Amino acid sequence: MRSWRNYAYPHDTERPGLLVEHGATAWSDEVDLARTGPYRHPTGIAVLPMNTLPDHEHMFHGDLTPEELGDDSGRKVYTPAEWCDRVCRQTAAIAEAGGTVTILAHPLCIKIADDWATFERLCGFVARFPSVTATQAVERLEATPDAARVASAPDR
Ligand SMILES: [Zn+2]
Repeated sequence: MRSWRNYAYPHDTERPGLLVEHGATAWSDEVDLARTGPYRHPTGIAVLPMNTLPDHEHMFHGDLTPEELGDDSGRKVYTPAEWCDRVCRQTAAIAEAGGTVTILAHPLCIKIADDWATFERLCGFVARFPSVTATQAVERLEATPDAARVASAPDR
């Protein structure tokens, strides 16, 4: 095992140390829109934060409708087109800052939202940027150990 992402992001303080103990070099359970890219956890493992709006929580699809959400949650949920626009803006801002973008888009969520139309638009946008594997992102971290945080509002 070289990398880890948990279902639904939960983790405790023991997780990073246990991952290092078992040989993992990259860990991606964190959602932090203010991060511009990977950073080094004190245990030594590289954290690859999801730094754009995750689709499942922030895009209307399936049972997550405006009617089901109601108006009392305060949760920011967008139409697929609005979600895609935000992710594209976040991607461009992070790329402009020299960072590494991690997008979380679940195949099932994307499929039921609009039968891949939004995902195809998103892929068309991100195709203009170079891509890296998790291993390459960790290697890049070695060269620039202090990943910056963007100063703008997390929702960009
Ligand atoms: Zn979903």
